[in-house]
Amino acid sequence: MLAPYAVRVETSQGRRHPEAPHPYRNDYQRDRDRVVHARAFRRLEAKTQVFSRRYSDHFRNRLTHTIEVTQIARTIAGQLGLNVDLVEALALVHDVGHPPFGHAGERALDGAMREHGHFFDHNLHALRIVEDFEMRYAAFRGLNLTFEIREGIIKHSHDYSINEHPELAEYLLDQRPPLEAQLIDLADEIAYNTADLDDGFEAHLITLPMIRASLPVFEAFFREVQLKYPDAPEKLKFNEALKLVLNRFVTGLIEGTTFNIKQTSIQSVDDVRRHPERLVGFPKGIDVDRLACKEFLHTNLYFSKALEPEKEEAERVIRDLFAHWMRRPGDLPSAYREKSQQEPLPRVLCDYIAGMTDNFILEQHKRFC
Ligand code: MG
Repeated sequence: MLAPYAVRVETSQGRRHPEAPHPYRNDYQRDRDRVVHARAFRRLEAKTQVFSRRYSDHFRNRLTHTIEVTQIARTIAGQLGLNVDLVEALALVHDVGHPPFGHAGERALDGAMREHGHFFDHNLHALRIVEDFEMRYAAFRGLNLTFEIREGIIKHSHDYSINEHPELAEYLLDQRPPLEAQLIDLADEIAYNTADLDDGFEAHLITLPMIRASLPVFEAFFREVQLKYPDAPEKLKFNEALKLVLNRFVTGLIEGTTFNIKQTSIQSVDDVRRHPERLVGFPKGIDVDRLACKEFLHTNLYFSKALEPEKEEAERVIRDLFAHWMRRPGDLPSAYREKSQQEPLPRVLCDYIAGMTDNFILEQHKRFC
């Protein structure tokens, strides 16, 4: 069933702490289940994707976004003959390192860290979560995930240089990740591009005429839908057209990747790893649509006036709390006070804050600031 360039679970480079095999779940299926049972995974439910819960209960949060990425990635992996279990585990874990309040939160946390000569990176943070912070097993700290999952956490979205990150040397930074990991980044993008159009439309921040005028791919499908369902309510026509856009991106990613694999005569995971470029990608025509979508959302949604007050508040909450605990580390819970004996205080604060949900950090802000 698997393509010759798919990762095979039997050839996994294994776990840090060897474990006896399970009678009927393979190692990647077990990793997938471990991610779903992790506390950091459950907390995604109360973390902002784009719209905070105060905006509406109907919009995506980081958990429902993660589920959408997972089903998109699974579909694409199945068509390409890739290892679906590995893809599923990677998709489910891909956002666990995100702090509260979406990108505004990430920016504020990174800014606070840089004032003390450190930085915040959500992929590196996700690795710390699965390696160290999750406490579920008596025999070891963390989730003891297989090498391929940990490698995918680090390498799915960009390449880290060995000079800047010598601590990541075991993850073969001079090589591309397997196709299963490469796929996650673009499945993520398909998921949020289409979902953010949907939520943005529902929130009345972007309108049908704006989308139709700016996104030719949407406009073409919308015209088809109008011919087919001339009397349907606008919202349902919008849904039908958006569904076709999503399908086009998914089909495009399957076709583009298949083409790249043929062009480069890739035969094995090793070939994928040693190939100088990533092989998962869209055909040129669809890439134009993808970029148009991204740009449209940047201008009209992510950086819209309407979302500004929330983003500013998010940044202020994180800045205030960080500064407060820097001044008064005695106000931290005892576990974090203890940790600050072994690690720099800014790093301990960053780990604490990054793990928080939107609700919890707002409570903390009320209490201390
Ligand atoms: Mg994501």
